[in-house]
Amino acid sequence: MAIQYAKRMERIKASEIRELLKLTTRPEIISFAGGLPAPELFPVEEMKKVTFKVLEDEGRQALQYSTTEGYLPLREKIAARMAKFGIQATAEDILITSGSQQGLDFSGKIFLNPGDVVICESPSYLGAINAFKAYECEFVEVPTDDHGMIMEELEKILEKTPQARMIYVIPDFQNPTGRTWPVERRKRLVELANKYDLPIIEDNPYGELRFEGEIPPSIKSFDTEGRVVYLGTFSKTFCPGLRIGWVAASHEILNKYILVKQGADLQSSSISQRELDAYLNMYDLDVHVEKIKDIYRKRRDLMINTMKETFPPEAKFTYPEGGLFTWVELPAHINARELMVKALEKNVAFVPGGSFFPNGGRENTFRLNYSNMPEDKIVEGIKRLGEVLREELQK
Ligand code: PMP
Repeated sequence: MAIQYAKRMERIKASEIRELLKLTTRPEIISFAGGLPAPELFPVEEMKKVTFKVLEDEGRQALQYSTTEGYLPLREKIAARMAKFGIQATAEDILITSGSQQGLDFSGKIFLNPGDVVICESPSYLGAINAFKAYECEFVEVPTDDHGMIMEELEKILEKTPQARMIYVIPDFQNPTGRTWPVERRKRLVELANKYDLPIIEDNPYGELRFEGEIPPSIKSFDTEGRVVYLGTFSKTFCPGLRIGWVAASHEILNKYILVKQGADLQSSSISQRELDAYLNMYDLDVHVEKIKDIYRKRRDLMINTMKETFPPEAKFTYPEGGLFTWVELPAHINARELMVKALEKNVAFVPGGSFFPNGGRENTFRLNYSNMPEDKIVEGIKRLGEVLREELQK
């Protein structure tokens, strides 16, 4: 058999990291590898009541096909919730998607031809890199510092990259680094996108999970020409299993997303959308988000404090003000993939950072997740990791 696959499949490869990560599901492993929310926080009892109510009151509609744009009352509620990011939106500006991951895939489908360039942060979200790769694009990574993408570097890159077709960014508690952009950079990004006539994809799954300080205005809030596509999701503020996210964009751009959604899956799950809407009617999501933040803030503090106590000084790490991740940078000669093998011998897992750089390199980095492990395991796991690091650095 010699079945011919599409050329794009050459770029879509199973990652060796995924193979390594399969090991991390063993119960004895303390895993800082995934990006999973804490399942003990999922509102299971509430969802039992919500599901019963939806089926009781509107069972036939909940199990029927519905519109591509999504369930109107839910779109209205999402539009209202976006005010906390400085965005004035109405239901007309919102398309419900199957997670924000679908919004990423659609962005690639809508904006990219083979050979086109995506401008992104260095490093960036692996799931977005892989989604865009399927459209046979190239990546130009913009250098970052502790405050996200460096605008002077972006400007230089835009000047010499006429093939650039979109800018993809995660300005709040970025995956993988946990970093957040200040307001001036957000404004400047919009100015530069205006100058070079490029769409911006602002991916914001973590913005509501801010442990301290005020939520800064989103990049979309500075959008004067309707070129910012905002991707939101309930995966981290509620639960990922429902697969409910959204795209907020100008009507011209949103219509393209609606068209490709029809080709992809017609609509997101009718029953999931109605369940989420009923939850928002019956309960206060903001109260739930506060509970999530309290737990994650505690876990962040424990992780960072234990890192300060046990990591050798050569290991530099970020201090996230929210979200799920911190990011570690080691001296250039240390390879985090090799380190991962040693950590696994001590039953601790993390994600080596190399694959978050679409053009490779930077193997001296890794990502740690603090949302998914209980407090005692965070302390124990970080201590063991500290031992591995000290052994490696003393060689
Ligand atoms: N964007 C980023 C930056 C993410 O970290 C994730 C999930 N880990 C997603 C998008 C996709 O999330 P979902 O499809 O569950 O909304």
